[in-house]
Amino acid sequence: MNKITYAINQNGELIYVDNVPNGSECHCVCPACHEKMVAKNNGKIRMHHFAHISGTECVNGYETMKHLLAKEIITETRLIPWIDRNRYTPIPSVRMIKETEHTINNIKIIPDITAWIQTTPNLFLPIFIEIYVTHKTDEEKLSLIKSAGIPAIEIDLSKSNAQTKEELMNDIYNPQNLKILNATIGKQFIPQIQVIQQYLATRLLQSYAGRFTTRNHRSPYKSNRLYKRYHYSRKR
Ligand SMILES: [Zn+2]
Repeated sequence: MNKITYAINQNGELIYVDNVPNGSECHCVCPACHEKMVAKNNGKIRMHHFAHISGTECVNGYETMKHLLAKEIITETRLIPWIDRNRYTPIPSVRMIKETEHTINNIKIIPDITAWIQTTPNLFLPIFIEIYVTHKTDEEKLSLIKSAGIPAIEIDLSKSNAQTKEELMNDIYNPQNLKILNATIGKQFIPQIQVIQQYLATRLLQSYAGRFTTRNHRSPYKSNRLYKRYHYSRKR
């Protein structure tokens, strides 16, 4: 039986059971039903967890926790799970926003996360990320996404038994849990992603090498501000 290991604190943040005072002093509520919770984090044998103060368990506590935590992890890592030419190659995102409303053909849809990737200095493209815990992306939503030509993925966490952020992260970035809902936006989309990946990979290699010269490397986008900032900080 999976336990609730993250609850909502007074600031509205998800917090791990070992990072709060024991018992009702934790001042946390259930992620699903918002009932007050008690932290059971003193024991040495049983797994530390949160319990509802009334002693009854709600139906969706753990699943809601998993859904909220997954959104938090993905927006923190800013990596979009992706498969390109049969290879698992997560794409870096320049910005991720939870639950933005989009209107397609006058119908509003709200993906769990909208990730933005930068393809040229002035062009940003969205990728929709859906997290499947209890509800798969329905056909109506899927056909809207396809008709709009927006790339979209679904991460299947329905079978995940993760109890910690690290365990859930492993399930999120497990290729077997990734389903590409829509890969097409137009012929230029995938090559542009590859340019970004090459660019970031080169930057990473340079930071490992510990030195940075502009002579050996040029940004694919001459006026990329991020690149310049990086260049400046490396030279210091
Ligand atoms: Zn609850």
